[in-house]
This record gives sequence, C-alpha cells and structure tokens, in this order.
Amino acid sequence: MKKPVVDFDTCVGCGSCAELCPSVFELRDEKAYVINAEGCGSCDCEAAAGVCPVEAISLVD
Ligand code: SF4
Repeated sequence: MKKPVVDFDTCVGCGSCAELCPSVFELRDEKAYVINAEGCGSCDCEAAAGVCPVEAISLVD
C-alpha cells in the first residue's frame, strides 16, 4: 500500500487534503502533516494527491 508524503516547501496550506481526508492529513501552522499514513481506507490517498492544487502530495511505496 502506498503512503502519502507532503512536500512542505511546496504545500501552500490550502487545507483541501485535510478537508477531504481528516483521518490522514491535519493542517498545522499552514502546512499539511500526515497524521496517519495508513488512515486511508479506500483509495491509497490518490484522491488527496489529486485534490492538492500544487501537487505537494506524493505517494510512495
Ligand atoms: S492540498 Fe496540498 S497545498 Fe493544500 S494543504 Fe494539502 S498538501 Fe498543502
């Protein structure tokens, strides 16, 4: 299963990933943190990666 990683330099703190998947991402100080890399129960975080406007979320093995 792939795990999401956030590039902090690229993240603009829009909150879309945390809004979409609050069990995986949390916004702190305008950066998204992965609070539970295995919290996605449905899509391996592909939806969150797709919703990020600046492509800051990568999916790694
Ligand atoms: S969707 Fe992207 S830019 Fe927005 S908070 Fe999440 S990682 Fe950051």
